[in-house]
Amino acid sequence: MPSAADIDHNLSLIHARIEQAAGRAGRKASEITLVAVSKTFGPDAVRAAVRAGQTAFGENRVQELATKAGALAGEPIEWHLIGHLQSNKVRKAVGVATWIQSIDSLDLLERVDAAARELGVRRKVLLQVDLAQEATKFGAQPRELPALVSAALEAKALELGGLMMIPPFAETPEDSRPWFRQLREIRDRLIDDGVPAERLGHLSMGMSGDFEVAVEEGATIVRVGTAIFGGRVSV
Ligand SMILES: *Cc1c(COP(=O)(O)O)cnc(C)c1O
Repeated sequence: MPSAADIDHNLSLIHARIEQAAGRAGRKASEITLVAVSKTFGPDAVRAAVRAGQTAFGENRVQELATKAGALAGEPIEWHLIGHLQSNKVRKAVGVATWIQSIDSLDLLERVDAAARELGVRRKVLLQVDLAQEATKFGAQPRELPALVSAALEAKALELGGLMMIPPFAETPEDSRPWFRQLREIRDRLIDDGVPAERLGHLSMGMSGDFEVAVEEGATIVRVGTAIFGGRVSV
């Protein structure tokens, strides 16, 4: 695990870089939420980040999320599930994650809504979009979005917040720009077609390698792991 001082330092650097990228795009850094992706790192690393002022954390596996959230109960943390959600883990995920960023089918949306109602909680959801149509990636196809958005707007215990995307692997940050732009344009088109803008306010895009480009293209949530916690041994 990186030292607490390293984590604190890395977070400061990332905030400065977000601020600069926002400035280049004429945006305010306060519009952008940094989600610290803590997968594979233990509770101590998360606690160090919390001490440095970080509150939003992302995990991509439900069991790891649940275990970590349990170990860190009482800390001022808002958990984001950012990985694929299997139907048999919905209840567990909804129990701990305030945000579920990886909704990619009607079936999953309905299961998450049902679990939230049963547990008596409200959850924020993002719709994950697969722009590159990669067989290895999860996400809804753009043409499926209107139906998904309608269903999300009707869900009883869910608040639709926007869209999320993982672009194809990129050699350079600029390679991601067209994907980020496409996600923003898809969002804008949905709003033009009548979806309330405040229900699609969030674009979750950008990771360690390309979050500045994402901010320039309109990201409101960036998901950064390696640049905060260092390299992962396994994912
Ligand atoms: C791991 C992960 C990230 C963070 O990736 P880094 O390159 O380490 O910043 C972001 N989003 C998702 C969905 C991830 O699984």
